[in-house]
Order: sequence, then structure tokens, then C-alpha cells
Amino acid sequence: MPELPEVEVSRQGITPFMLGETVMRIVVRNPSLRWPVPSELQEMVGLTITSVRRRAKYLLLETDWGTVILHLGMSGNLRILDHGTQPSKHDHVDIELGNGKLLRFNDTRRFGCVLWTRDPAEQHALLAKLGPEPLTDDFSDEYLYQRSRKRKIAVKQFIMDNHVVVGVGNIYANESLFSAGINPEQPANEVTQPQYAALTTEIKLVLARAIKQGGTTLKDFTGSDGKPGYFVQELQVYGRAEQPCSACGGLLKEVRMGGRSTVFCPRCQPRLKP
Ligand SMILES: [Zn+2]
Repeated sequence: MPELPEVEVSRQGITPFMLGETVMRIVVRNPSLRWPVPSELQEMVGLTITSVRRRAKYLLLETDWGTVILHLGMSGNLRILDHGTQPSKHDHVDIELGNGKLLRFNDTRRFGCVLWTRDPAEQHALLAKLGPEPLTDDFSDEYLYQRSRKRKIAVKQFIMDNHVVVGVGNIYANESLFSAGINPEQPANEVTQPQYAALTTEIKLVLARAIKQGGTTLKDFTGSDGKPGYFVQELQVYGRAEQPCSACGGLLKEVRMGGRSTVFCPRCQPRLKP
């Protein structure tokens, strides 16, 4: 599943081809995505793309008249191709531009979406209640500490909640909790402010590293498949259950939390008594 770093790298990859370009034509081959592609999307024809932004895992293609809200879902990807490039299976939407290029949205499982809104995108129901972006100063130890005082859920679930902070997927939650030395099952309201300081730092680091790595491994989005894939990083805990901890040599342990694999070092990430 594309995570925040993959979406950010997609944004960086498509921006040079889209910014300032006029939309010439929109082709919708299959509107049956997670939500139907609205016919109002055709309002975009003739408009100029003024910005390509990202909020959480949504890409926002802005014009002076409205904004496309695009999500890659479980299996979506974007490519920049030349006009007239033959579509293949699962190529659901094309946005053709004045520079002879087109943005092609491909999504095998169709959990993604391509929506159109005339209102400021941040007010859209999908975006309005999202927590802060992890790589901004709004996401801080003070914020997490205050926000967690009445929350008894496990800290891992807490930081994976999009209403708390966006973009902390399962792998990134596992890795940042390990680096910060915090037990994933510790109730969020028992985590101290210094621990949250370490955790916010680690979350920012792991995401920034993934974006940087994705940006360097990926030359452009005009390649054959356009799939950024999962940025393979040095993972310290995720996928390493029953292997030795890189810090202390003890065996890493796996538990399921919310149906998701959770791997941690019982020695380096002790459960603290409040
Ligand atoms: Zn350890």
C-alpha cells in the first residue's frame, strides 16, 4: 500500500510536468473507484493547474476553479505519459495536459479515488478532521503529550490514528517506537513528555529518510510502470520477529495490535509502570 513517503515522492515526480499546464481533456474509462469519479471532473478542462499539493495521503491538483482530490488507495499509481499512449487494464483516468503529456491513474484494486471539489480542499469531508502533518512544526512532543492525556489506548494505536497525526503507517510506527525506546502497548496517557519528544523526532526522521530515499531511487514518473513501491529501508524491528535486537542482542517479540504486526524489543522497550 502506498504510504505517505510514496505519495510525497509521487507528488514530487509529477509536479514538474503538471504545474502551470492547462488541462486539455479528461478521459474516465472506469468511474467505479472507491467513490464514483464525478462527472463534474470535466469542469477541469481548460483550467490551469496552479499547484500540486499533498495532505496526508491525498494529492491535491489545484486550479482557480476547483481541486482534484486523488488517493492511491491500496494499489494505485500515477504515471506521466505522452498523449496517445495506449491504455492497458486498470488505467482508469487520464488527465491530458497542454504540454503533450498526460497523467494516468492506474489502480488494480480500485480502492483509490479521483474526486473534484469547488470548495477549499481542506474543508472536504475526507480532509477536514485529519491531524497535523508529521513533518511540520504542528506535530510536536507538546502536541502529542496534551492530546494523549485522556487516551488509554496503546501508544502505537494512538500515533497510527489519522485524527492524531497523519501518515504514520504500521512500519513507521514499529520503527519509530523502537528507536524511541517506547513499548508499543504502553497506554498513550502513560507516555511521558520526554518520551513523546523522542517519538516525534523518530517519526519525523523515519518519514524524511523514506522520502529522501524514494526521491533518489526514482528518477522520474515517466518510466515503464510508475510504481514507486515500498521504499526498502533498513528496518530494525518490522519483519524481524524472533531475530536478535540490533541494540541489545535479545530476541525481538511480535504481538498483533489492531490486526497489525507489532514487533518490539522487550528489553529496549520496557513497559513502564505509571
Ligand atoms: Zn533490544
